[in-house]
Amino acid sequence: MDDNTKMAELLFPEITKTPADYEEIYPPRRLPEGAVVTRFSPSPTGFLHFGGLFASFAGMTAARSSGGVFYLRIEDTDKKREVEGGVDMIVDGLRAFDIEFDEGVISQTEEKGAYGPYIQSKRNDIYHAYVKSLVEKGLAYPCFMTEEEIAAIRAEQEEKKLLPGIYGEYAKYRDITPERARELIESGAEYVVRLKSPGSPDRRVKFKDGIKGEIEMPENIMDIVLLKKDGTPTYHFAHAIDDHLMRTTHVIRGDEWISSAPIHLQLFYVLGFKAPKYVHIAPIMKEENGGKRKISKRKDPEAAVSFYEEAGYPAGSVWEYLMTLANSNYEDWRLANPDADIKDFKFSLSKMSKAGALFDFVKLNDVSKNYICRLSAEEVFDLSAAWAKKYNTRLYELFRDNEEYAREILAIERGSAKPRKDIAKWEDVEGYVSYFYDELWDRKRDFADNLSNADMAEILETYKTIYDGTVTAEDWFPQVRDMAVSLGYAKAPKEYKKNPDQYKGHVGDVAGVIRAAVTGRRNTPDLYEIMRVLGSNEVIKRIDEAIDALRTLE
Ligand code: GLU
Repeated sequence: MDDNTKMAELLFPEITKTPADYEEIYPPRRLPEGAVVTRFSPSPTGFLHFGGLFASFAGMTAARSSGGVFYLRIEDTDKKREVEGGVDMIVDGLRAFDIEFDEGVISQTEEKGAYGPYIQSKRNDIYHAYVKSLVEKGLAYPCFMTEEEIAAIRAEQEEKKLLPGIYGEYAKYRDITPERARELIESGAEYVVRLKSPGSPDRRVKFKDGIKGEIEMPENIMDIVLLKKDGTPTYHFAHAIDDHLMRTTHVIRGDEWISSAPIHLQLFYVLGFKAPKYVHIAPIMKEENGGKRKISKRKDPEAAVSFYEEAGYPAGSVWEYLMTLANSNYEDWRLANPDADIKDFKFSLSKMSKAGALFDFVKLNDVSKNYICRLSAEEVFDLSAAWAKKYNTRLYELFRDNEEYAREILAIERGSAKPRKDIAKWEDVEGYVSYFYDELWDRKRDFADNLSNADMAEILETYKTIYDGTVTAEDWFPQVRDMAVSLGYAKAPKEYKKNPDQYKGHVGDVAGVIRAAVTGRRNTPDLYEIMRVLGSNEVIKRIDEAIDALRTLE
Protein backbone atom coordinates (compact mmCIF):
# COMPACT_ATOMS: atom_id res chain seq x y z
CA MET A 1 0.00 0.00 0.00
CA ASP A 2 1.46 3.38 -0.91
CA ASP A 3 1.37 6.30 1.47
CA ASN A 4 -1.57 7.99 -0.19
CA THR A 5 -3.68 4.86 0.01
CA LYS A 6 -2.63 4.39 3.61
CA MET A 7 -3.68 7.93 4.39
CA ALA A 8 -7.03 7.47 2.64
CA GLU A 9 -7.74 4.30 4.62
CA LEU A 10 -6.69 5.96 7.85
CA LEU A 11 -9.06 8.89 7.33
CA PHE A 12 -11.99 7.08 5.75
CA PRO A 13 -11.89 3.42 6.78
CA GLU A 14 -15.66 3.05 6.62
CA ILE A 15 -16.04 4.44 3.08
CA THR A 16 -16.30 1.63 0.57
CA LYS A 17 -18.06 3.26 -2.38
CA THR A 18 -15.89 4.94 -4.97
CA PRO A 19 -16.53 7.85 -7.34
CA ALA A 20 -17.08 5.28 -10.09
CA ASP A 21 -19.98 3.84 -8.09
CA TYR A 22 -21.57 7.26 -7.79
CA GLU A 23 -21.08 7.93 -11.48
CA GLU A 24 -23.21 4.89 -12.07
CA ILE A 25 -25.84 5.74 -9.47
CA TYR A 26 -26.22 9.25 -10.92
CA PRO A 27 -25.78 8.82 -14.67
CA PRO A 28 -25.88 11.73 -17.08
CA ARG A 29 -29.44 12.84 -17.69
CA ARG A 30 -31.16 11.97 -20.90
CA LEU A 31 -32.46 15.31 -22.01
CA PRO A 32 -32.86 17.15 -25.30
CA GLU A 33 -29.88 19.02 -26.69
CA GLY A 34 -29.50 22.41 -25.03
CA ALA A 35 -31.65 21.52 -22.01
CA VAL A 36 -30.76 23.61 -18.96
CA VAL A 37 -30.48 21.70 -15.68
CA THR A 38 -30.26 24.15 -12.84
CA ARG A 39 -31.09 24.57 -9.24
CA PHE A 40 -31.93 26.89 -6.43
CA SER A 41 -29.78 25.97 -3.47
CA PRO A 42 -30.47 28.10 -0.43
CA SER A 43 -29.49 27.59 3.16
CA PRO A 44 -32.52 27.10 5.40
CA THR A 45 -31.94 30.25 7.43
CA GLY A 46 -35.60 31.17 7.73
CA PHE A 47 -35.34 34.17 5.45
CA LEU A 48 -36.21 34.07 1.80
CA HIS A 49 -34.65 37.03 0.03
CA PHE A 50 -36.25 38.67 -2.97
CA GLY A 51 -32.96 38.03 -4.78
CA GLY A 52 -33.55 34.32 -4.14
CA LEU A 53 -36.97 34.54 -5.73
CA PHE A 54 -35.38 36.40 -8.64
CA ALA A 55 -32.69 33.74 -9.08
CA SER A 56 -35.27 30.93 -8.81
CA PHE A 57 -37.44 32.67 -11.32
CA ALA A 58 -34.53 32.95 -13.74
CA GLY A 59 -33.50 29.33 -13.15
CA MET A 60 -36.98 27.93 -13.50
CA THR A 61 -37.68 29.95 -16.63
CA ALA A 62 -34.39 28.89 -18.22
CA ALA A 63 -35.05 25.22 -17.40
CA ARG A 64 -38.69 25.26 -18.52
CA SER A 65 -38.03 27.02 -21.79
CA SER A 66 -35.30 24.54 -22.76
CA GLY A 67 -37.02 21.32 -21.70
CA GLY A 68 -34.62 20.97 -18.78
CA VAL A 69 -34.88 20.42 -15.04
CA PHE A 70 -35.15 22.83 -12.16
CA TYR A 71 -34.51 21.43 -8.71
CA LEU A 72 -34.24 22.54 -5.11
CA ARG A 73 -31.21 21.58 -3.09
CA ILE A 74 -30.91 22.52 0.55
CA GLU A 75 -27.46 23.64 1.65
CA ASP A 76 -27.55 22.99 5.36
CA THR A 77 -23.90 22.34 6.08
CA ASP A 78 -23.78 25.32 8.39
CA LYS A 79 -26.00 24.10 11.20
CA LYS A 80 -25.56 27.33 13.15
CA ARG A 81 -27.50 29.29 10.55
CA GLU A 82 -30.35 26.83 10.26
CA VAL A 83 -33.79 27.52 11.73
CA GLU A 84 -36.54 25.06 12.47
CA GLY A 85 -39.03 24.76 9.63
CA GLY A 86 -36.59 26.64 7.37
CA VAL A 87 -37.11 24.22 4.49
CA ASP A 88 -40.89 24.55 4.52
CA MET A 89 -40.53 28.31 4.64
CA ILE A 90 -38.51 28.20 1.44
CA VAL A 91 -40.76 25.75 -0.36
CA ASP A 92 -43.99 27.48 0.68
CA GLY A 93 -42.54 30.94 0.18
CA LEU A 94 -41.60 30.11 -3.41
CA ARG A 95 -44.75 28.15 -4.16
CA ALA A 96 -46.82 31.21 -3.28
CA PHE A 97 -45.21 32.77 -6.35
CA ASP A 98 -45.65 29.74 -8.58
CA ILE A 99 -42.06 28.64 -8.31
CA GLU A 100 -42.29 24.87 -8.46
CA PHE A 101 -39.47 22.39 -8.65
CA ASP A 102 -39.33 19.39 -10.93
CA GLU A 103 -37.07 17.64 -8.51
CA GLY A 104 -35.41 17.94 -5.15
CA VAL A 105 -36.64 18.84 -1.73
CA ILE A 106 -40.40 19.33 -1.68
CA SER A 107 -40.97 19.71 2.06
CA GLN A 108 -39.21 19.43 5.38
CA THR A 109 -39.41 15.64 5.17
CA GLU A 110 -39.87 14.72 1.52
CA GLU A 111 -38.04 14.89 -1.73
CA LYS A 112 -38.49 13.58 -5.25
CA GLY A 113 -36.14 12.74 -8.09
CA ALA A 114 -33.41 10.24 -8.86
CA TYR A 115 -30.42 12.44 -8.07
CA GLY A 116 -30.88 12.83 -4.31
CA PRO A 117 -30.54 13.10 -1.43
CA TYR A 118 -31.04 16.77 -2.14
CA ILE A 119 -30.17 17.89 1.37
CA GLN A 120 -26.47 18.28 1.89
CA SER A 121 -26.49 16.98 5.47
CA LYS A 122 -27.66 13.63 4.07
CA ARG A 123 -24.82 13.38 1.58
CA ASN A 124 -21.83 12.96 3.86
CA ASP A 125 -20.89 9.51 2.58
CA ILE A 126 -20.79 10.85 -0.96
CA TYR A 127 -18.52 13.75 -0.03
CA HIS A 128 -16.27 11.44 1.92
CA ALA A 129 -15.94 9.02 -0.98
CA TYR A 130 -14.69 11.82 -3.21
CA VAL A 131 -12.34 13.25 -0.61
CA LYS A 132 -11.02 9.77 -0.04
CA SER A 133 -10.29 9.44 -3.74
CA LEU A 134 -8.49 12.79 -3.75
CA VAL A 135 -6.38 11.71 -0.77
CA GLU A 136 -5.57 8.49 -2.62
CA LYS A 137 -4.34 10.53 -5.54
CA GLY A 138 -2.28 12.80 -3.32
CA LEU A 139 -4.57 15.74 -4.06
CA ALA A 140 -5.88 16.24 -0.52
CA TYR A 141 -4.46 15.83 2.98
CA PRO A 142 -5.39 16.17 6.63
CA CYS A 143 -4.32 19.43 8.22
CA PHE A 144 -3.95 19.60 11.99
CA MET A 145 -3.31 23.29 12.34
CA THR A 146 -5.00 24.90 15.34
CA GLU A 147 -6.97 28.15 15.24
CA GLU A 148 -4.05 29.84 16.99
CA GLU A 149 -1.56 28.66 14.40
CA ILE A 150 -3.77 29.91 11.60
CA ALA A 151 -4.22 33.27 13.34
CA ALA A 152 -0.45 33.57 13.75
CA ILE A 153 0.08 32.85 10.04
CA ARG A 154 -2.51 35.46 9.13
CA ALA A 155 -0.81 38.05 11.34
CA GLU A 156 2.55 37.28 9.77
CA GLN A 157 1.13 37.51 6.26
CA GLU A 158 -0.51 40.81 7.05
CA GLU A 159 2.69 42.19 8.40
CA LYS A 160 4.65 41.08 5.36
CA LYS A 161 1.83 42.26 3.09
CA LEU A 162 1.49 38.80 1.62
CA LEU A 163 -1.59 37.10 0.27
CA PRO A 164 -3.43 35.73 3.31
CA GLY A 165 -4.29 32.03 3.47
CA ILE A 166 -2.89 28.53 3.64
CA TYR A 167 -0.67 27.91 0.62
CA GLY A 168 2.94 27.16 -0.25
CA GLU A 169 5.18 27.28 2.78
CA TYR A 170 2.20 28.02 5.04
CA ALA A 171 0.57 24.73 4.14
CA LYS A 172 2.41 23.03 6.91
CA TYR A 173 0.79 19.59 6.67
CA ARG A 174 0.92 19.21 2.89
CA ASP A 175 3.42 16.41 3.09
CA ILE A 176 2.40 14.78 6.33
CA THR A 177 2.99 11.02 6.41
CA PRO A 178 0.22 8.59 7.28
CA GLU A 179 2.22 7.52 10.34
CA ARG A 180 2.39 11.05 11.69
CA ALA A 181 -1.27 11.59 10.96
CA ARG A 182 -2.16 8.43 12.84
CA GLU A 183 -0.19 9.58 15.88
CA LEU A 184 -1.89 12.93 15.88
CA ILE A 185 -5.34 11.43 15.46
CA GLU A 186 -4.68 8.95 18.25
CA SER A 187 -3.57 11.76 20.51
CA GLY A 188 -6.97 13.33 19.95
CA ALA A 189 -5.90 16.15 17.59
CA GLU A 190 -8.61 17.54 15.35
CA TYR A 191 -8.12 18.09 11.65
CA VAL A 192 -9.68 19.37 8.48
CA VAL A 193 -9.04 17.93 5.03
CA ARG A 194 -7.48 20.38 2.60
CA LEU A 195 -7.05 20.40 -1.13
CA LYS A 196 -3.45 20.18 -2.24
CA SER A 197 -3.94 22.97 -4.73
CA PRO A 198 -2.22 22.46 -8.09
CA GLY A 199 -2.58 26.19 -8.77
CA SER A 200 0.29 28.46 -9.62
CA PRO A 201 0.60 32.19 -8.90
CA ASP A 202 1.68 32.89 -12.47
CA ARG A 203 -1.26 31.26 -14.14
CA ARG A 204 -4.68 32.70 -14.76
CA VAL A 205 -8.03 31.07 -15.19
CA LYS A 206 -10.55 32.16 -17.79
CA PHE A 207 -14.21 31.37 -18.11
CA LYS A 208 -17.25 32.72 -19.84
CA ASP A 209 -19.96 33.76 -17.46
CA GLY A 210 -23.51 33.50 -18.83
CA ILE A 211 -24.26 37.12 -17.86
CA LYS A 212 -20.97 38.87 -17.31
CA GLY A 213 -19.15 37.42 -20.30
CA GLU A 214 -15.42 36.64 -20.35
CA ILE A 215 -13.85 36.66 -16.92
CA GLU A 216 -10.19 36.18 -16.16
CA MET A 217 -8.74 35.82 -12.66
CA PRO A 218 -5.60 34.48 -11.01
CA GLU A 219 -5.65 30.75 -10.54
CA ASN A 220 -6.44 29.46 -7.05
CA ILE A 221 -3.32 28.61 -5.07
CA MET A 222 -4.94 28.11 -1.66
CA ASP A 223 -5.11 24.73 -0.01
CA ILE A 224 -8.74 25.35 0.72
CA VAL A 225 -10.67 23.26 3.22
CA LEU A 226 -12.76 20.48 1.69
CA LEU A 227 -14.00 18.88 4.89
CA LYS A 228 -14.36 20.75 8.13
CA LYS A 229 -13.38 19.36 11.52
CA ASP A 230 -16.82 17.84 12.01
CA GLY A 231 -16.51 16.03 8.67
CA THR A 232 -19.03 18.21 6.84
CA PRO A 233 -18.05 19.74 3.50
CA THR A 234 -17.39 23.39 2.80
CA TYR A 235 -19.65 25.20 0.34
CA HIS A 236 -16.92 24.96 -2.31
CA PHE A 237 -16.54 21.22 -2.13
CA ALA A 238 -20.23 20.41 -1.80
CA HIS A 239 -20.95 22.66 -4.77
CA ALA A 240 -18.54 20.74 -7.00
CA ILE A 241 -19.75 17.31 -5.93
CA ASP A 242 -23.45 18.09 -5.92
CA ASP A 243 -23.61 20.04 -9.12
CA HIS A 244 -21.63 17.36 -10.86
CA LEU A 245 -23.62 14.40 -9.55
CA MET A 246 -26.96 16.13 -9.96
CA ARG A 247 -25.86 16.84 -13.51
CA THR A 248 -26.33 20.58 -13.31
CA THR A 249 -25.54 22.27 -16.59
CA HIS A 250 -25.91 25.89 -15.39
CA VAL A 251 -24.98 27.18 -11.96
CA ILE A 252 -27.16 30.25 -11.57
CA ARG A 253 -26.24 32.06 -8.37
CA GLY A 254 -25.52 35.42 -6.79
CA ASP A 255 -22.44 37.24 -8.05
CA GLU A 256 -20.93 37.30 -4.57
CA TRP A 257 -19.63 33.87 -5.65
CA ILE A 258 -17.65 35.12 -8.65
CA SER A 259 -14.52 35.59 -6.59
CA SER A 260 -14.69 31.90 -5.63
CA ALA A 261 -15.06 30.70 -9.20
CA PRO A 262 -11.30 29.94 -9.59
CA ILE A 263 -11.55 27.60 -6.58
CA HIS A 264 -14.59 25.94 -8.06
CA LEU A 265 -13.09 25.49 -11.49
CA GLN A 266 -10.01 23.99 -9.91
CA LEU A 267 -12.13 21.57 -7.90
CA PHE A 268 -13.97 20.44 -11.02
CA TYR A 269 -10.59 19.96 -12.66
CA VAL A 270 -8.96 17.90 -9.89
CA LEU A 271 -12.10 15.82 -9.49
CA GLY A 272 -12.11 15.10 -13.20
CA PHE A 273 -15.53 16.68 -13.74
CA LYS A 274 -16.71 18.81 -16.60
CA ALA A 275 -17.32 22.29 -15.20
CA PRO A 276 -20.86 23.68 -15.47
CA LYS A 277 -21.67 27.02 -17.07
CA TYR A 278 -21.64 29.78 -14.51
CA VAL A 279 -24.32 32.42 -14.56
CA HIS A 280 -23.72 35.03 -11.90
CA ILE A 281 -26.67 37.27 -11.14
CA ALA A 282 -26.03 40.78 -9.87
CA PRO A 283 -27.97 41.73 -6.75
CA ILE A 284 -31.13 43.76 -6.98
CA MET A 285 -30.31 47.38 -6.29
CA LYS A 286 -32.15 50.31 -4.90
CA GLU A 287 -31.67 54.00 -5.48
CA GLU A 288 -30.93 56.00 -2.37
CA ASN A 289 -29.73 59.55 -1.95
CA GLY A 290 -28.68 59.71 -5.56
CA GLY A 291 -26.59 56.55 -5.25
CA LYS A 292 -27.30 52.85 -5.55
CA ARG A 293 -27.09 50.07 -3.00
CA LYS A 294 -28.16 46.44 -2.70
CA ILE A 295 -31.60 45.87 -1.25
CA SER A 296 -31.00 44.81 2.26
CA LYS A 297 -32.67 42.44 4.64
CA ARG A 298 -32.14 44.89 7.47
CA LYS A 299 -33.29 48.09 5.82
CA ASP A 300 -35.89 47.16 3.22
CA PRO A 301 -39.11 45.28 3.90
CA GLU A 302 -39.29 44.45 0.19
CA ALA A 303 -36.11 42.38 0.52
CA ALA A 304 -38.21 39.59 2.05
CA VAL A 305 -40.33 37.45 -0.24
CA SER A 306 -42.93 37.22 2.54
CA PHE A 307 -43.52 40.95 2.09
CA TYR A 308 -45.11 40.40 -1.35
CA GLU A 309 -47.36 37.67 -0.11
CA GLU A 310 -48.49 39.63 2.92
CA ALA A 311 -49.22 42.72 0.87
CA GLY A 312 -51.07 40.54 -1.61
CA TYR A 313 -49.16 40.97 -4.84
CA PRO A 314 -50.50 38.12 -6.95
CA ALA A 315 -47.98 35.67 -8.33
CA GLY A 316 -48.78 36.82 -11.86
CA SER A 317 -47.87 40.42 -11.01
CA VAL A 318 -44.67 39.39 -9.34
CA TRP A 319 -43.76 37.33 -12.39
CA GLU A 320 -44.40 40.31 -14.64
CA TYR A 321 -42.24 42.44 -12.44
CA LEU A 322 -39.44 39.89 -12.18
CA MET A 323 -39.38 39.53 -15.94
CA THR A 324 -39.21 43.32 -16.26
CA LEU A 325 -36.20 43.27 -13.96
CA ALA A 326 -34.66 40.27 -15.70
CA ASN A 327 -34.86 41.20 -19.38
CA SER A 328 -35.07 44.84 -20.36
CA ASN A 329 -36.74 43.98 -23.68
CA TYR A 330 -39.66 42.39 -21.83
CA GLU A 331 -41.65 45.59 -21.41
CA ASP A 332 -41.75 46.27 -25.12
CA TRP A 333 -42.79 42.70 -25.75
CA ARG A 334 -45.57 43.06 -23.21
CA LEU A 335 -46.80 46.26 -24.79
CA ALA A 336 -46.92 44.57 -28.16
CA ASN A 337 -48.54 41.44 -26.72
CA PRO A 338 -50.79 42.60 -23.91
CA ASP A 339 -52.75 39.36 -23.69
CA ALA A 340 -50.00 36.85 -24.36
CA ASP A 341 -48.89 34.31 -21.79
CA ILE A 342 -45.66 35.42 -20.12
CA LYS A 343 -44.28 31.95 -20.94
CA ASP A 344 -44.30 32.87 -24.61
CA PHE A 345 -41.66 35.53 -24.04
CA LYS A 346 -38.21 34.43 -25.10
CA PHE A 347 -36.37 34.81 -21.83
CA SER A 348 -32.61 35.02 -22.03
CA LEU A 349 -30.16 34.60 -19.18
CA SER A 350 -27.51 36.49 -21.09
CA LYS A 351 -29.71 39.58 -21.30
CA MET A 352 -29.84 39.90 -17.53
CA SER A 353 -28.26 43.01 -16.07
CA LYS A 354 -24.55 42.80 -15.38
CA ALA A 355 -24.65 45.60 -12.85
CA GLY A 356 -27.86 44.83 -11.00
CA ALA A 357 -31.48 45.59 -11.81
CA LEU A 358 -33.06 48.49 -9.98
CA PHE A 359 -35.96 47.81 -7.67
CA ASP A 360 -38.69 50.39 -7.91
CA PHE A 361 -41.97 50.34 -5.98
CA VAL A 362 -43.77 52.69 -8.34
CA LYS A 363 -42.93 50.35 -11.17
CA LEU A 364 -43.93 47.26 -9.22
CA ASN A 365 -47.31 48.78 -8.41
CA ASP A 366 -47.76 49.89 -11.97
CA VAL A 367 -46.95 46.49 -13.37
CA SER A 368 -49.22 44.87 -10.82
CA LYS A 369 -52.15 47.21 -11.58
CA ASN A 370 -51.77 46.40 -15.23
CA TYR A 371 -51.84 42.73 -14.43
CA ILE A 372 -54.79 42.87 -12.04
CA CYS A 373 -56.90 45.09 -14.29
CA ARG A 374 -56.90 42.31 -16.88
CA LEU A 375 -58.10 39.62 -14.52
CA SER A 376 -61.73 38.55 -14.58
CA ALA A 377 -64.01 39.42 -11.67
CA GLU A 378 -63.96 35.74 -10.73
CA GLU A 379 -60.19 35.69 -10.55
CA VAL A 380 -60.06 38.89 -8.55
CA PHE A 381 -62.63 37.51 -6.17
CA ASP A 382 -60.91 34.14 -5.75
CA LEU A 383 -57.43 35.56 -5.31
CA SER A 384 -58.38 38.43 -3.04
CA ALA A 385 -60.63 36.20 -0.92
CA ALA A 386 -57.83 33.65 -0.54
CA TRP A 387 -55.50 36.45 0.50
CA ALA A 388 -58.07 37.95 2.91
CA LYS A 389 -58.63 34.57 4.53
CA LYS A 390 -55.03 34.73 5.70
CA TYR A 391 -54.42 38.43 6.14
CA ASN A 392 -57.71 40.31 6.54
CA THR A 393 -60.37 38.37 8.43
CA ARG A 394 -62.87 41.21 8.44
CA LEU A 395 -62.82 41.49 4.66
CA TYR A 396 -62.85 37.73 4.28
CA GLU A 397 -65.97 37.42 6.41
CA LEU A 398 -67.76 40.15 4.49
CA PHE A 399 -66.92 38.41 1.23
CA ARG A 400 -67.97 35.04 2.56
CA ASP A 401 -71.27 36.28 4.02
CA ASN A 402 -72.40 37.42 0.59
CA GLU A 403 -70.21 36.12 -2.17
CA GLU A 404 -72.61 37.19 -4.88
CA TYR A 405 -72.48 40.79 -3.73
CA ALA A 406 -68.68 40.76 -3.53
CA ARG A 407 -68.41 39.34 -7.02
CA GLU A 408 -70.74 42.01 -8.36
CA ILE A 409 -68.68 44.75 -6.76
CA LEU A 410 -65.48 43.39 -8.22
CA ALA A 411 -67.10 43.00 -11.63
CA ILE A 412 -67.77 46.71 -11.97
CA GLU A 413 -65.99 48.01 -15.09
CA ARG A 414 -64.09 44.80 -15.56
CA GLY A 415 -63.60 43.35 -18.99
CA SER A 416 -63.80 46.69 -20.77
CA ALA A 417 -61.24 47.75 -23.34
CA LYS A 418 -59.74 50.25 -20.93
CA PRO A 419 -60.08 48.66 -17.51
CA ARG A 420 -59.51 50.78 -14.43
CA LYS A 421 -56.32 50.34 -12.48
CA ASP A 422 -57.38 50.81 -8.89
CA ILE A 423 -55.85 47.72 -7.35
CA ALA A 424 -52.12 47.04 -7.14
CA LYS A 425 -52.28 44.38 -4.44
CA TRP A 426 -54.96 42.65 -2.42
CA GLU A 427 -54.21 44.90 0.51
CA ASP A 428 -55.86 47.66 -1.56
CA VAL A 429 -59.13 45.78 -1.92
CA GLU A 430 -60.61 46.74 1.44
CA GLY A 431 -60.22 50.42 0.63
CA TYR A 432 -61.49 49.86 -2.88
CA VAL A 433 -64.74 48.20 -1.78
CA SER A 434 -65.21 49.91 1.58
CA TYR A 435 -68.23 52.07 0.70
CA PHE A 436 -70.16 48.97 -0.28
CA TYR A 437 -70.14 47.73 3.29
CA ASP A 438 -71.60 49.42 6.39
CA GLU A 439 -68.89 47.69 8.42
CA LEU A 440 -66.14 49.34 6.40
CA TRP A 441 -67.52 52.67 5.33
CA ASP A 442 -67.03 55.60 7.69
CA ARG A 443 -69.92 57.49 5.99
CA LYS A 444 -67.78 60.56 5.55
CA ARG A 445 -68.52 62.35 2.32
CA ASP A 446 -65.95 64.25 0.38
CA PHE A 447 -68.10 66.78 -1.46
CA ALA A 448 -66.45 69.11 -3.92
CA ASP A 449 -66.17 72.67 -2.71
CA ASN A 450 -67.37 74.55 -5.76
CA LEU A 451 -71.07 74.28 -4.85
CA SER A 452 -72.85 75.47 -1.71
CA ASN A 453 -74.37 72.98 0.67
CA ALA A 454 -77.80 74.31 -0.20
CA ASP A 455 -77.19 73.72 -3.92
CA MET A 456 -75.93 70.25 -3.26
CA ALA A 457 -78.90 69.42 -1.05
CA GLU A 458 -81.18 70.71 -3.79
CA ILE A 459 -79.51 68.43 -6.35
CA LEU A 460 -79.96 65.42 -4.12
CA GLU A 461 -83.55 66.26 -3.23
CA THR A 462 -84.42 66.59 -6.89
CA TYR A 463 -82.52 63.49 -7.84
CA LYS A 464 -84.44 61.51 -5.27
CA THR A 465 -87.68 62.37 -6.99
CA ILE A 466 -86.51 61.10 -10.39
CA TYR A 467 -84.24 58.26 -9.25
CA ASP A 468 -85.49 54.90 -10.30
CA GLY A 469 -83.53 51.76 -9.53
CA THR A 470 -84.70 50.09 -12.73
CA VAL A 471 -83.32 52.73 -15.10
CA THR A 472 -81.06 51.31 -17.80
CA ALA A 473 -77.39 52.24 -18.19
CA GLU A 474 -78.21 54.15 -21.41
CA ASP A 475 -80.96 56.23 -19.84
CA TRP A 476 -79.22 56.97 -16.61
CA PHE A 477 -76.88 59.70 -17.68
CA PRO A 478 -79.36 61.58 -19.91
CA GLN A 479 -81.69 61.63 -16.92
CA VAL A 480 -79.03 63.22 -14.72
CA ARG A 481 -78.18 65.65 -17.50
CA ASP A 482 -81.77 66.76 -17.96
CA MET A 483 -82.10 67.27 -14.25
CA ALA A 484 -78.87 69.28 -14.20
CA VAL A 485 -80.14 71.56 -16.94
CA SER A 486 -83.45 72.06 -15.14
CA LEU A 487 -81.58 73.13 -12.03
CA GLY A 488 -79.43 75.66 -13.85
CA TYR A 489 -76.30 73.67 -14.66
CA ALA A 490 -74.65 73.43 -18.07
CA LYS A 491 -75.30 70.17 -19.90
CA ALA A 492 -71.59 69.73 -20.66
CA PRO A 493 -68.33 71.05 -19.17
CA LYS A 494 -67.46 72.71 -22.48
CA GLU A 495 -70.59 74.80 -22.42
CA TYR A 496 -69.95 75.80 -18.85
CA LYS A 497 -66.44 76.92 -19.71
CA LYS A 498 -67.75 79.18 -22.46
CA ASN A 499 -70.16 80.99 -20.17
CA PRO A 500 -69.35 80.26 -16.56
CA ASP A 501 -71.52 83.14 -15.29
CA GLN A 502 -74.67 81.69 -16.75
CA TYR A 503 -74.53 78.47 -14.81
CA LYS A 504 -74.11 77.16 -11.27
CA GLY A 505 -71.82 74.51 -12.63
CA HIS A 506 -72.09 71.66 -15.11
CA VAL A 507 -73.46 68.16 -15.30
CA GLY A 508 -70.18 66.70 -14.05
CA ASP A 509 -70.54 68.68 -10.84
CA VAL A 510 -74.07 67.40 -10.44
CA ALA A 511 -73.04 63.79 -10.95
CA GLY A 512 -70.19 64.45 -8.52
CA VAL A 513 -72.66 65.42 -5.81
CA ILE A 514 -74.59 62.20 -6.33
CA ARG A 515 -71.32 60.25 -6.35
CA ALA A 516 -70.14 61.77 -3.09
CA ALA A 517 -73.54 61.23 -1.49
CA VAL A 518 -73.63 57.57 -2.46
CA THR A 519 -69.97 56.59 -2.11
CA GLY A 520 -68.34 59.34 -0.08
CA ARG A 521 -65.75 59.79 -2.85
CA ARG A 522 -64.98 62.12 -5.69
CA ASN A 523 -63.54 59.43 -7.86
CA THR A 524 -65.02 55.96 -8.30
CA PRO A 525 -65.69 53.44 -11.02
CA ASP A 526 -68.92 53.76 -12.98
CA LEU A 527 -71.51 55.37 -10.70
CA TYR A 528 -74.49 53.82 -12.44
CA GLU A 529 -73.02 50.36 -11.84
CA ILE A 530 -72.25 51.17 -8.23
CA MET A 531 -75.82 52.24 -7.59
CA ARG A 532 -77.15 49.16 -9.32
CA VAL A 533 -75.05 46.93 -7.11
CA LEU A 534 -75.96 48.84 -3.94
CA GLY A 535 -79.65 48.60 -4.76
CA SER A 536 -82.23 51.40 -4.68
CA ASN A 537 -83.08 51.14 -0.97
CA GLU A 538 -79.49 51.68 -0.01
CA VAL A 539 -79.04 54.46 -2.56
CA ILE A 540 -82.09 56.34 -1.25
CA LYS A 541 -80.95 55.84 2.32
CA ARG A 542 -77.54 57.31 1.51
CA ILE A 543 -79.01 60.23 -0.39
CA ASP A 544 -81.30 61.01 2.57
CA GLU A 545 -78.37 60.86 4.94
CA ALA A 546 -76.37 63.20 2.74
CA ILE A 547 -79.27 65.67 2.46
CA ASP A 548 -79.59 65.70 6.24
CA ALA A 549 -75.90 66.34 6.66
CA LEU A 550 -75.84 69.12 4.07
CA ARG A 551 -78.95 70.81 5.45
CA THR A 552 -77.58 70.67 8.98
CA LEU A 553 -74.37 72.33 7.91
CA GLU A 554 -76.11 74.91 5.75
N1 GLU B 1 -26.18 28.09 -0.39
C1 GLU B 1 -25.60 29.12 -1.19
C2 GLU B 1 -26.14 30.46 -0.71
O1 GLU B 1 -26.97 30.48 0.12
C3 GLU B 1 -25.99 28.86 -2.63
C4 GLU B 1 -25.10 29.41 -3.65
C5 GLU B 1 -25.31 28.63 -4.95
O2 GLU B 1 -26.40 28.75 -5.55
O3 GLU B 1 -24.44 27.87 -5.32
O4 GLU B 1 -25.70 31.48 -1.15
